[in-house]
Parts: sequence; structure tokens; C-alpha cells
Amino acid sequence: MSAPSTLINDGVPRVNSRGASSPDPDRPLSVTTRTVGLLALQGDFHLHRLAAERLGHRAHEVRTRHDLECVDCLIMPGGESTTMRKLMRMGGLDDAIRSFAQTHPVMGTCAGLILLSKGIDGEPQSETLGLLDCTVSRNAYGRQVFSFRGEGRVRLAGHENSFEMVFIRAPRIQHVGSAAQVLGYLGEEPVMIRQGRILGLTFHPELADDDRVHEFFLSCGFFSG
Ligand code: GLN
Repeated sequence: MSAPSTLINDGVPRVNSRGASSPDPDRPLSVTTRTVGLLALQGDFHLHRLAAERLGHRAHEVRTRHDLECVDCLIMPGGESTTMRKLMRMGGLDDAIRSFAQTHPVMGTCAGLILLSKGIDGEPQSETLGLLDCTVSRNAYGRQVFSFRGEGRVRLAGHENSFEMVFIRAPRIQHVGSAAQVLGYLGEEPVMIRQGRILGLTFHPELADDDRVHEFFLSCGFFSG
């Protein structure tokens, strides 16, 4: 893969410089307002709330299976996937997310992608959700101090764009199955994949000063059909 351009040593999520949570005045008024579910067991769900609100949507924290009943889609944030996996299993939220994903969009970033994947390399018994046709390798760039940002490419709504990607103790996507489509690369390495309504990223779009990935996920393309 290409060399990371900037090392981030503090590991502290920084608030987007457009950090105000008020809707963007330039945004077209015709976009449907959605209730965006944020998996709020652990991790940096709050910055996803700010991104959703900047785009004019509502956010609702999801901690139980019942919370899923009042949201239109779900964002599974970065954090610590083993902890999240255990908390998700309590109360059957894992099964509830599996059935929710049959009819609703779900986006997973970093730890969220790990949870969406079919499996974690080196962990044969990993109980991931199996919603994205890929396998991943956790902490694949090394320890927290090797977190970095780099310029990657994403394909959003048919257009190729460069995107500043922040990787924090990130996983690597080891294998992409035929059911999934690669939409983002860092160098030659897949970092963003889609399978129908499910979107998974190894980086943190909520830490970029750029809401295009959230805008893409919350667009009609994920909600129709
Ligand atoms: N290293 C974490 C894990 O494996 C993921 C890191 C993140 O979400 N930023 O769970």
C-alpha cells in the first residue's frame, strides 16, 4: 500500500472543523430527513451524530433491539470490536441488527466494519454479523501510535473522488467476496466496500472535514428498492 501521509499520535478523535451541528444551508431542501440510528454501546458514535445533523437528519442512539424500531438506518461506529461484539450479544441486539439489515441501510466504520464482516482472520470462532462478504484482519497497521491519515479514492454515486482518510488502529480487508463491490482504495488496497444496503469502511469518515461519505450513505440509493 502507499505510505501514510501523516501520523496521528494522540489517538484522540478531533472534532470536525465544521463542527457545528446545524444543517448545512447549501444543502438541497428536497432531501428526505431520516432518523439515523447510531449504535451507541461504545466508541465514537457522537461524531457520526454531528455529521448526520449537519446533513439535516435526526440521530437516535441505539442500545437495545427496541431502539431499532424507530430508526431508518444504522451507523456502527469505530471503537473496540470485541467489547462491542459482547455488548451487542447481550439482549439479542446482534440478531436484531441482522434482521434490520435485510430491509434497512447499515454503515460500519472500522470496528463497525469488523462486526459487519464474515469473519476475522486468525479468529476461527469469531462471531461477527456476516452481513458483508469480506474477511478482515484487526489492528493490521500495528499499534495505536501507527494510526495515520492518507489520501485515498472513493467512488460515490458513480463519481471517483479523492478523500482524506483517517485510520485509527484500523483493520485491513483481507478478502472481498463476489457479493461485495469495492468503492474505496488507499493505494491499491480496498478500504470501502458495499453490498447492497450495507457499506463498510476501514477508515473514519466522521473524522474528516468532509461529509460526502455520510451524504452518500444517507442518499436515496441506499434506501430505495
Ligand atoms: N482496533 C479496533 C478493533 O479491532 C478498531 C479500531 C477503530 O475502530 N478505530 O476493534
